[in-house]
Amino acid sequence: MGGGNTAMDCCRTSRRMGGESVKVVVRSPFKDMKASPWEKEDAQHEDIDIFDNHVPLSFEVENGKLIGMKFQKVEAVYDDNGKRKLIPTGEPDVFIEADEVLIAIGQENSFPWIERDIGLEFNEWEMPTVDKVTFQSTNPKVFFGGDAAFGPENVITAVAHGHQAAVSMHLFCEEKDLKQRPAPFTKLFSTKMGIHEWSYDSPVTIDQRFLVPQAEKSLTLVDRKKEVELGFNLPTGFKEAQRCLNCDVQTEFSTDLCIECDACMDVCPTSCITFTGNEPEEDQLRQKLLVPATNKSQDILVSDTLKTGRVMVKDEDVCLHCGLCAERCPTSAWDMQQYFYSVTKAGSI
Ligand SMILES: Cc1cc2nc3c(=O)[nH]c(=O)nc-3n(C[C@H](O)[C@H](O)[C@H](O)COP(=O)(O)OP(=O)(O)OC[C@H]3O[C@@H](n4cnc5c(N)ncnc54)[C@H](O)[C@@H]3O)c2cc1C
Ligand code: SF4
Ligand code: SF4
Repeated sequence: MGGGNTAMDCCRTSRRMGGESVKVVVRSPFKDMKASPWEKEDAQHEDIDIFDNHVPLSFEVENGKLIGMKFQKVEAVYDDNGKRKLIPTGEPDVFIEADEVLIAIGQENSFPWIERDIGLEFNEWEMPTVDKVTFQSTNPKVFFGGDAAFGPENVITAVAHGHQAAVSMHLFCEEKDLKQRPAPFTKLFSTKMGIHEWSYDSPVTIDQRFLVPQAEKSLTLVDRKKEVELGFNLPTGFKEAQRCLNCDVQTEFSTDLCIECDACMDVCPTSCITFTGNEPEEDQLRQKLLVPATNKSQDILVSDTLKTGRVMVKDEDVCLHCGLCAERCPTSAWDMQQYFYSVTKAGSI
């Protein structure tokens, strides 16, 4: 029961542990399930049926033994704000036979074993109050990290928390201010190698995600430890890597070098560069760009005033980091520069 990635783990592991008829039953419509699309595809590929729009009603027991579950059929109705309601369809309840039910509908922390009189505050959700920067609790000698700090997350977040909490503990033991944290290492450097040569590659591509080849079901379903995804072969792997958007490579603009030839504006495939007169209000400026920059959660870059009195405005929201502007620019006013960022980790302070 459940529609997240954990449910997909459960059903696929069940298949590997001998489950012949494994079903996933979920309240939401298939398209709204929290599991990643490829996880759903992989489960279905392993002959697991997914029953969506089924709300659990009861466990059905006969002679003290579970025989299945009863579900109500619903349909999703969305209001103008996209908020979803699950409305019963009026169809008869559905009985699904089962001798084992795994419930994968969420996790929460449980700290019954932590005394409540040691200066450690808990909030209304019974979660410890933890500082988001230092990971220190209200008992200064106690630090939290991972799922225990702010609720279920993922492995990479837990590791990052561990590093940050360790940095805090070190500062604490040295009687230093925990908020004065060592700065991360950052560096910005040009990727230009020659006149038309860059140390990165970023063609504009419309390729869809390439499918990762998988091992045969006859092998993977009998061995829980058998790796399913075989990885790309070399040519496909290379093609897939070519689709990287190179978000670490930034466009850097030098006002002094620009001769206002407008060539970059012409060549940009997403029309995100505009040379125009400035406006007192950012909203007005956003509207008069070649393509209006309507996503206000993304900054626009506005240069200093150029010689003709115009400014260069770039909508960061739609930049593909393709580098064509830098390629075309006759004066290197545009440069593609790689940004390197390495957060401070425990062991390196
Ligand atoms: C089914 C499932 C699939 C997941 N898949 C992924 C995935 O694919 N990728 C991903 O990044 N994340 C995934 N996650 C999330 C990931 O597992 C967690 O975010 C991560 O393990 C959290 O690490 P942690 O060290 O904070 O906690 P945990 O890994 O939970 O470690 C806590 C440890 O503390 C121990 N413990 C608990 N209470 C006590 C106590 N009183 N005394 C001593 N020890 C105690 C526990 O036994 C446990 O070993 C998945 C989670 C689940 C449940
Ligand atoms: S990198 Fe490409 S998309 Fe971004 S501004 Fe330059 S030409 Fe346009
Ligand atoms: S191509 Fe270079 S010089 Fe020409 S307008 Fe763009 S930034 Fe300025």
